[in-house]
Amino acid sequence: MLNRPLARVLALCLALLPLACNTAPERTDTADPNADFDTFKEHFVETLWELDPTWASYVGRREYDSLLTLPTEAQRTREATAYAALRDSLGTFDPAALSVLNRMDLKMLRDFLTAQRWYRETLKAHTWNPAAYNVGGACARVLQGRYGTLPGRLRSLSNRLALVPTYYAAARENLETTTLPHLQLALVQSRGVLDGVLNQAMRDSVARADLPRAEKRRFNERLDSARAAVAAYVAYLEDVQQALDTASARDFRLGPEAFRRKFDLDLQSGFTADEVFARAKARKRYLHRHMDSITTQLWAKYVPDEAPPADSLQKIRRVIDAIAESHTTRGAFVTTIREQIPELTAFVDSADLLTQDPTKPLVVRETPLYMRGGGAGASVSAPGPYDQDGETFYNVTPLDGYDEAGAESYLREYNDYTLQILNVHEAIPGHYTQLVYANKAPSVVKSVLGNGAMIEGWAVYAELMMLEAGYRNSPEMWLMYDKWNLRVTTNAILDHLVHTTNLSEAEAMQLLVAEAFQERSEAEGKWRRAKLSQVQLSSYFTGFTEILALREALKKQQGDAFDLKAFHEQFLSYGSAPVPYIAEAMRE
Ligand code: ZN
Ligand code: ZN
Repeated sequence: MLNRPLARVLALCLALLPLACNTAPERTDTADPNADFDTFKEHFVETLWELDPTWASYVGRREYDSLLTLPTEAQRTREATAYAALRDSLGTFDPAALSVLNRMDLKMLRDFLTAQRWYRETLKAHTWNPAAYNVGGACARVLQGRYGTLPGRLRSLSNRLALVPTYYAAARENLETTTLPHLQLALVQSRGVLDGVLNQAMRDSVARADLPRAEKRRFNERLDSARAAVAAYVAYLEDVQQALDTASARDFRLGPEAFRRKFDLDLQSGFTADEVFARAKARKRYLHRHMDSITTQLWAKYVPDEAPPADSLQKIRRVIDAIAESHTTRGAFVTTIREQIPELTAFVDSADLLTQDPTKPLVVRETPLYMRGGGAGASVSAPGPYDQDGETFYNVTPLDGYDEAGAESYLREYNDYTLQILNVHEAIPGHYTQLVYANKAPSVVKSVLGNGAMIEGWAVYAELMMLEAGYRNSPEMWLMYDKWNLRVTTNAILDHLVHTTNLSEAEAMQLLVAEAFQERSEAEGKWRRAKLSQVQLSSYFTGFTEILALREALKKQQGDAFDLKAFHEQFLSYGSAPVPYIAEAMRE
């Protein structure tokens, strides 16, 4: 997982301000087309921030902290008008006159506008997804921010709170027929906004802050009104739930046509949804065969007193379960990860996989309390586009929150083998390394609209690349890698089947538990996520497959001249662009 102020999860891009937008001229005409395009990009992005102040403050533009993007019809109209104008301006640039990096940015901006239009006109999640309406994150981030002063942030928050009643009134106006999973999520999350964000702790912060009494009183009045608005939204959702059953609810499945379209728009892949699905099924068959042969080799070592079962999947699971017993302790969890990072750096150097930047060490830290939510985990936090000097952290959550059995189960999942694959994925040479390279080709477009399939695909590719180079080479390592890779592979299969067929929960459990060796609790979480999201679960496997396909094509084309290190460095040099756009530049 990569925590990064990237694109928004939901297409709620709605204006609050009239579109004055004097930040940059629409386009200038100097003798230098790249300079003109740079000016235009600036204008484009500033327009986005004015249209969507919640997004702007999320990426670090503090002057938008006091605003909230309101989901009203008027704002949707304003957004459509602004995007149409941007599309026209974009069309006046000749791609052939631009540098490789600017040409990619131009395509990414065009793709963004196409996607936004489809979200607004066709997907229309604002009419059926009640979980799209949530002010919790926007309010919590300002309160808990590590910038400015507390009184300053509370002033911004006070203004933001004043908009909350209008926000939820617009939400109720928008909603037509909702889906059951999104309704249930909205109920849980909206109650969470009341208990976890707009709560007594917020009032206590105000009481402690160095603010005039009148401002404190006004803050508390606005907080009361905001709470009342969220409570009314919860009551409204409870009424909807009473009246809704499986027959009257909207289907959470997108259906084949919308799924294929959303796949193209969200992932900007060179493959279609159907091609990725076919490749995922083929990959699953390959992984099963590979796991079966490793298991045959390891059986006597791990299960010495028994004959292997005839069923291949059962045989594989027995050996996986035995290997998972090699794991660190809950007390040493963070230390174990911290100690692995220099080892990964050294291996990447010795195997000559890519050049690393020693001036930018990754900081491993315990996940800050305000970021911990629901259990343990590891993630990379990178600074946003407006915080270039910020450090990059590898957040590791200690296992304090688990009981003995929970910690044991977690440690078996992140055993001595998979923990290393996790570190490769998150840190070196995965997400962290990719970010360091991306920052050398700075582009606010790629930083804000970075392609998820490329970013996740690189981290998944890095896992394979390390093992291919011989990192901790052993049959156990490969078996655990196969299980790990089977997870992203089945994510793509599940996503496709949930949204294009009537796949049942029992069939999903067969796929995830029996055929991908997942724990029941993990599989149930995945089934829930597949119902709530569309296409996102396919992004990992799609990017991985595209990068691998590109590498193999270039190998074939270049023969003995192919250089793996040069391939990695060139691939990463373009920043977080869609893989097909990178591939085009590399083939030139
Ligand atoms: Zn990731
Ligand atoms: Zn154990």
